[in-house]
Amino acid sequence: MSSSTQGGRPAGFEGSYLGDATRINDNARLECKICWWVYDPAQGDDVWQIPPGTPFRALPAHWRCPQCDGAAEQFMVIHDEGQA
Ligand SMILES: [Zn+2]
Repeated sequence: MSSSTQGGRPAGFEGSYLGDATRINDNARLECKICWWVYDPAQGDDVWQIPPGTPFRALPAHWRCPQCDGAAEQFMVIHDEGQA
Protein backbone atom coordinates (compact mmCIF):
# COMPACT_ATOMS: atom_id res chain seq x y z
CA MET A 1 0.00 0.00 0.00
CA SER A 2 1.45 3.27 -0.96
CA SER A 3 -0.23 6.58 -0.84
CA SER A 4 2.14 9.29 -1.81
CA THR A 5 -0.60 11.69 -2.65
CA GLN A 6 -0.90 13.94 0.28
CA GLY A 7 -2.60 17.25 0.06
CA GLY A 8 -0.22 20.05 0.68
CA ARG A 9 1.05 23.23 -0.79
CA PRO A 10 1.87 23.23 -4.46
CA ALA A 11 5.62 23.13 -4.20
CA GLY A 12 7.47 24.34 -7.22
CA PHE A 13 4.50 26.10 -8.68
CA GLU A 14 5.73 29.15 -10.47
CA GLY A 15 4.97 31.30 -13.42
CA SER A 16 1.80 33.13 -12.74
CA TYR A 17 1.90 35.97 -10.33
CA LEU A 18 -1.83 36.46 -9.87
CA GLY A 19 -1.35 38.77 -6.97
CA ASP A 20 0.43 36.21 -4.85
CA ALA A 21 3.80 37.81 -4.22
CA THR A 22 5.04 34.91 -2.15
CA ARG A 23 5.69 32.90 -5.28
CA ILE A 24 8.09 35.40 -6.77
CA ASN A 25 11.81 34.87 -6.38
CA ASP A 26 13.69 37.70 -4.74
CA ASN A 27 15.73 38.26 -7.85
CA ALA A 28 12.88 37.88 -10.33
CA ARG A 29 12.16 40.73 -12.70
CA LEU A 30 8.59 41.59 -13.48
CA GLU A 31 7.13 43.28 -16.49
CA CYS A 32 4.14 45.58 -16.65
CA LYS A 33 1.67 43.99 -19.03
CA ILE A 34 0.23 47.36 -19.92
CA CYS A 35 3.31 49.35 -20.88
CA TRP A 36 6.06 46.70 -20.70
CA TRP A 37 8.02 48.61 -18.10
CA VAL A 38 10.28 46.19 -16.23
CA TYR A 39 10.93 46.16 -12.52
CA ASP A 40 14.42 44.84 -11.81
CA PRO A 41 15.15 44.20 -8.12
CA ALA A 42 18.83 44.89 -8.77
CA GLN A 43 17.93 48.40 -9.92
CA GLY A 44 15.10 49.30 -7.60
CA ASP A 45 12.88 52.14 -8.70
CA ASP A 46 13.87 55.79 -8.68
CA VAL A 47 10.34 57.03 -9.13
CA TRP A 48 9.13 55.42 -5.93
CA GLN A 49 12.52 55.73 -4.25
CA ILE A 50 12.89 51.99 -3.95
CA PRO A 51 16.51 51.13 -3.13
CA PRO A 52 18.38 48.64 -5.33
CA GLY A 53 18.12 45.08 -4.05
CA THR A 54 14.45 45.30 -3.14
CA PRO A 55 12.52 42.19 -4.24
CA PHE A 56 9.18 42.75 -5.93
CA ARG A 57 7.28 41.26 -3.01
CA ALA A 58 8.92 43.77 -0.67
CA LEU A 59 7.58 46.75 -2.57
CA PRO A 60 5.14 48.91 -0.63
CA ALA A 61 1.47 48.05 -1.00
CA HIS A 62 0.76 51.34 -2.71
CA TRP A 63 3.46 50.79 -5.31
CA ARG A 64 2.28 51.12 -8.90
CA CYS A 65 3.89 51.06 -12.29
CA PRO A 66 5.95 54.26 -12.46
CA GLN A 67 5.29 54.57 -16.16
CA CYS A 68 1.59 53.88 -16.61
CA ASP A 69 0.35 53.86 -13.00
CA GLY A 70 -0.88 50.29 -13.40
CA ALA A 71 -1.44 48.19 -10.31
CA ALA A 72 1.33 45.90 -9.10
CA GLU A 73 -0.99 42.90 -9.46
CA GLN A 74 -0.90 43.10 -13.22
CA PHE A 75 2.86 42.67 -13.41
CA MET A 76 4.08 39.41 -14.88
CA VAL A 77 7.21 37.47 -13.99
CA ILE A 78 9.83 37.46 -16.72
CA HIS A 79 11.30 34.03 -17.30
CA ASP A 80 15.01 34.21 -17.64
CA GLU A 81 16.74 31.41 -19.41
CA GLY A 82 19.46 29.82 -17.40
CA GLN A 83 17.60 30.57 -14.22
CA ALA A 84 15.48 27.82 -12.80
ZN1 LIG B 1 3.06 50.07 -16.77
